Order: sequence, then C-alpha cells, then structure tokens
Amino acid sequence: MNFLKGTKIYSIMTGSCPVCQQESMYQVSNPYKLNETLKMHERCSHCETKYKIEPSFFYGAMYVSYPVGIIFAVSAFLIGYFLLKLNLVATFLLIAATMIISLPIILRLSRNIWINFFMHYNKEKKLS
Ligand SMILES: [Zn+2]
Repeated sequence: MNFLKGTKIYSIMTGSCPVCQQESMYQVSNPYKLNETLKMHERCSHCETKYKIEPSFFYGAMYVSYPVGIIFAVSAFLIGYFLLKLNLVATFLLIAATMIISLPIILRLSRNIWINFFMHYNKEKKLS
C-alpha cells in the first residue's frame, strides 16, 4: 500500500487523513465494531485538518454509497453467476449476503471517497 501514498487511492483504501495521510480518520480501525464504525476523530493530530467541514458534511457520503454498493453487488453477481456457476436464486442470495456483510466497509469507503472530493494531499501541511 505504501507505494500509493500521496494518492487519493491510499487515503480512500486506508481511511487515512486526506491531507497528510499520517493517521486514520477513524477512532477504531476495525469497521466491524458496528457501534463504532462511523466514529471519527474530530481533527487530524498531525495536520489539524478538521474532517467534518460543516455540520452533517458526511450526509453527502450517501450519494457515494450508492455507486459503491452497486460495484459490490455487480462483483458479487459476476463471481456467483460466472465464476461459481450458481443459479439465479443462489446468486441473488449471494448478492444480498454480500451487501449486508460489506455494509460497514461500504459506509467507510463512501466517507473516504466523499472527503477526498473536497480535500487534497499536501505533504507540507504540518503542525506549526
Ligand atoms: Zn492529517
């Protein structure tokens, strides 16, 4: 992953601060601790970036979660139907299970993508 540092992909995949990429935005690294999936630090301790730019900033991530969810669903379909050669009902169940199981990941990915629309990597930004 380290070779991607400085790119938006790195911040999106790791959930790290979009500006300095030095630390995670999330308080708990495991997204499957369900009551803490979306708990985030208020600011980055390295560059003091405030993640929540404005109140309810992350509601916008809902728009992102839709296409992200579709990517997961289509992947599940392709794997189930073409790779595992399941019938349509089994494929449908696989898609449903995939969506439920990957929901915490989809939620975080959506937030990471959303915040990366607004913030950009800046190596120079450090605590003064
Ligand atoms: Zn930072």
